[in-house]
Amino acid sequence: MANGKTFKVALVGQPNVGKSSLFTRLTGVGVISSNYPGTTVEFDEGVVTRKGKTVSVHDLPGTYSMSGNSDDEKVVLRDLWEGRNDTVILVADATNLVSSLALCFETLELGLPTIIALTKMDEARKRNNIDIDALSEILGVPVMPVSSKTSEGVDALADAVCEGRARTSGFKIEYLPDIEKAIVALEDGLPDSLRFNKRGVAVKLLEDSEPFYDMIGTELKHTVAVMKKLYRDNTGHGLGIDIATSRYAEAESIVSHVVSENDTKPSLADRISDVMITPITGVPILLAVCLAILTTIVYVGSFLDEVVSSVYETVVGSAIIDLGGSSEFWTAVLTGIDGSIQAIMSLVIPYIMVFYIILGILEDSGYLTRAVVLLDRTMHHFGLHGGSFIPIIVGLGCNVPAIMAVRTVQSRREKVILSSMIVMAVPCSAQMAIIMGATGSYSGVIYAFGILVMLVCLAVITGILMNKFMKYEPSSLAMELPDLQVPSAKNVLFKTWYRIKDFFYIAFPLLIIGSIVVEVLLQYDLLNVIVDPLSPVIVGMLGLPAVCAIAFIVGILRKEMALGMLQILAGGLALEQFMTPDQFVVFGVVMAVYMPCVATLITMWREIGWKETIGVSVMSIVVAILLGTATNILLQMF
Ligand code: GDP
Repeated sequence: MANGKTFKVALVGQPNVGKSSLFTRLTGVGVISSNYPGTTVEFDEGVVTRKGKTVSVHDLPGTYSMSGNSDDEKVVLRDLWEGRNDTVILVADATNLVSSLALCFETLELGLPTIIALTKMDEARKRNNIDIDALSEILGVPVMPVSSKTSEGVDALADAVCEGRARTSGFKIEYLPDIEKAIVALEDGLPDSLRFNKRGVAVKLLEDSEPFYDMIGTELKHTVAVMKKLYRDNTGHGLGIDIATSRYAEAESIVSHVVSENDTKPSLADRISDVMITPITGVPILLAVCLAILTTIVYVGSFLDEVVSSVYETVVGSAIIDLGGSSEFWTAVLTGIDGSIQAIMSLVIPYIMVFYIILGILEDSGYLTRAVVLLDRTMHHFGLHGGSFIPIIVGLGCNVPAIMAVRTVQSRREKVILSSMIVMAVPCSAQMAIIMGATGSYSGVIYAFGILVMLVCLAVITGILMNKFMKYEPSSLAMELPDLQVPSAKNVLFKTWYRIKDFFYIAFPLLIIGSIVVEVLLQYDLLNVIVDPLSPVIVGMLGLPAVCAIAFIVGILRKEMALGMLQILAGGLALEQFMTPDQFVVFGVVMAVYMPCVATLITMWREIGWKETIGVSVMSIVVAILLGTATNILLQMF
């Protein structure tokens, strides 16, 4: 048992039983591929932390037998022999039990601490009932039903491993009487120092397994040779064949005991669920769902936006600003407050609330969990889990709730990777408005589209690079699929309120304070002191008018204000006269990537800590300037 040390686990199974899929589910992120010393055979190793234990999982090559006569088999045997594994997970395919059991017997005979993972249970259950308890009783080791497709049972398997529930089996196959005699005779001659069970080694010797010869002396080798010759002379065929035949006969007998046909048809919900998580049908469904989310938000959102704005206009109008009377200072303060209230009303109610209602419906219906299961593998390339897909989608609405959704991700490392991707590469609705409104209108839609493509590339590169270079601290994803159901309105509305509540508490006060500060600085022309020191970057590198610095700074406060600010800075000129189409492209690129807004910053600070928040912010500024400069240079060249 591991006590502070790393707990070692080896995955053993035939090719195609679902070993790699199970490995991915168990280990999640941070997989290293290595060559076994002295061979070209590759195996994967993944390390996970679970219940305070560090578990290192080896995914050994798939093998049909334990004879050690091929490269793959040698690697597997060597790992079992030298690896001092705390647990061997024998992966057996529930849809092809006879063949899987034959390999299980071979491994059980060697007497290692074992747990059997019965994979593809989702598929097997459609046809058969398997009496798991009876199977476990017969084999003398825990048998855990799992499905890598639905994640069923993966958590329980990981728990069983960590709790040290692996057992050495007392299971014995009765071979033919002559073979049994030979086994007993060999067992007596074997040394006590073997790490494998003597009976298992005796069987392997009789099967002519090369690596096992290295464990014995010349005399015993001679005995084995004599036994094999005698057997062949008496029966006319080899020992190995009869041993394998007995194993298959035993496997068939056990299967006939524990497996019964299942005549219940899968329900409609089961079939829909299956379609949702099978990649070939699941991915198009997911894309359609994403498209539906975005169109609903855009249409319903802009409709509500108009309604809310016109109600505000009629009911409040300029009443708040008018309170300031002739005082310049108070007018500035009240303009800030008025602007914040309008921004919140036109952002939170139409866009964020609608988004959360949709999210609640998707979550409660059980669809979201299926999307997560579907995307799990893809997200691993970025060191993330399928679950990260939710914050990324949320980020298209607003980065504040997106960063809050990062909370659902387990490890700090993933939180940082995911936050960086969201801040730099997922445009929130305000950034989208600038990309479309500035670059799209003044440089052409093709450039706006180009910026979106650039952001997708940036997300992929950020994920891959950070995954590669950040010290890893992985965790495993294993979620059970809830039943598909019609969501309850009460539940969805409650969740929506619960999430929006956070937004009011965090973002709203900040927006008010920030807006007041900017309005006051503007009123007294104080923002200009910032322009000069920044002009080497703004003018020299980005090729933009120096005053754009102010638009960028205002954008830190509220991204959607940056465009309005640019209008003010143009000082009466039409925007297309103030900047060239090329400059609008650079402006769009920088706005899309640089620095999270204040509300996002504070949320990040709460969720991932201030050091990481500063790190991510600085990185986003650097990347924005580099990409902006590169865009500027490219546009000038062509
Ligand atoms: P390996 O060769 O043992 O590593 O097997 P893989 O993990 O590559 O899986 C082999 C095939 O079985 C692939 O097509 C998988 O999609 C499929 N598979 C693996 N696990 C499951 C499962 O739990 N359920 C179902 N239905 N299919 C699975």
